[in-house]
Amino acid sequence: MDVEKVFHMTGGVGKTSYAKNSSLQKKACDKVKHIIIEAVEEVYLATTPKSIGIADLGCSSGPNTLSIIKDIFQAIQSISHKIMMHRRHHPHHLISDEFRVYLNDLPTNDFNSIFKALPEFHRLLRQDKNKDNNDGLIPSIFMGGYPGSFYGRLFPNSSLHFVHSSYSLHWLSRVPPALYDKEGNSLNKGCVYISESSPEVVQKAYLNQFQQDFSLFLRSRSEELVVDGRMVLIFLGRRGTEHVDKGNSFFWQILSRSFAILVSQGGIEQEKLDSYDVHFYAPSREEVEEEVRKQESIKLERLDTIEMDTIEQGIESYGTTVAKAVRAIQESMISSHFGEKILDALFDNFARLLDDELVKEDIKPITFVLVLRKI
Ligand code: SAH
Repeated sequence: MDVEKVFHMTGGVGKTSYAKNSSLQKKACDKVKHIIIEAVEEVYLATTPKSIGIADLGCSSGPNTLSIIKDIFQAIQSISHKIMMHRRHHPHHLISDEFRVYLNDLPTNDFNSIFKALPEFHRLLRQDKNKDNNDGLIPSIFMGGYPGSFYGRLFPNSSLHFVHSSYSLHWLSRVPPALYDKEGNSLNKGCVYISESSPEVVQKAYLNQFQQDFSLFLRSRSEELVVDGRMVLIFLGRRGTEHVDKGNSFFWQILSRSFAILVSQGGIEQEKLDSYDVHFYAPSREEVEEEVRKQESIKLERLDTIEMDTIEQGIESYGTTVAKAVRAIQESMISSHFGEKILDALFDNFARLLDDELVKEDIKPITFVLVLRKI
């Protein structure tokens, strides 16, 4: 399956859309907002650009997309306000009067929904600015969509000051080809990701793909960032060297089991399940650090681990919330492979199995937050 052509979050604002089912990601991003703001302030003070370039990679569509841009915008406004107030101490600092914002995702992303929300968003930023009554300066804001894979070059040389990416980099550029033998048979039968029954070559195939992808990502961004530019990368990972744990890999185990129920009921064929694997990888801290170390022009300034709580949100069970989130993320790939008829039954199974497991033991997925600097 060609990930670039098929993979997208469910668009629009309907019941199953990513826009309506991404509150878990939003909560996690709010938790690390202070790290993002600090990095924005650092880059601003270090580079004092007249025209500042900001990119959000894997922006998707929905409330999360513009909410992070608003935070970044406000952080820059607030730091430039401070500089204005203490002009004597910063005589050489320029104030940015141009914001260039590049929203990137794969070409099949629902960019239309974002574009439709832009006029209101521009109004909101200006309103806030007037409310704060900072210094009367209203910067020009230029926003655009940049469709394409972030595993490769997207922007001109030295055009970006700040890169943000949340919950996107655990998606690989493709399902690792080494998961299949010469005849195209899966070496990871019955499972959609690394599981207890997966042979070692499966783990190797996933790790190799991650290494290849992540290093290409870093190389590409290093060309696009100005010296002293920063990146804040937020993505899923795993706690230790073991691949199979009660973290992110466990959700895929639940999905495999949800599929197995449909196989046993005759809803899908075993071979169809055997040939389905996700293009996802949860790296360990060491694996991430090793790839960064290989890039001479990128320095790791900080790597934090955050744990997401498995707390019920409102009236629905946690299993239901996660099932809806996974559906909004996975349904394009699953319906392309199995057809969309199975989706309701599959995710009903998922929600039930997850709630059953949570009664026995807590599941603790982890997220890495990296701050990187171009040197
Ligand atoms: N940043 C948002 C959306 C995360 S969902 C949030 O935090 O809520 C992950 C997004 O990454 C999806 O929209 C997906 O299409 C995008 N994505 C995955 N692989 C990508 C790639 N190679 N290039 C660009 N975007 C990609």
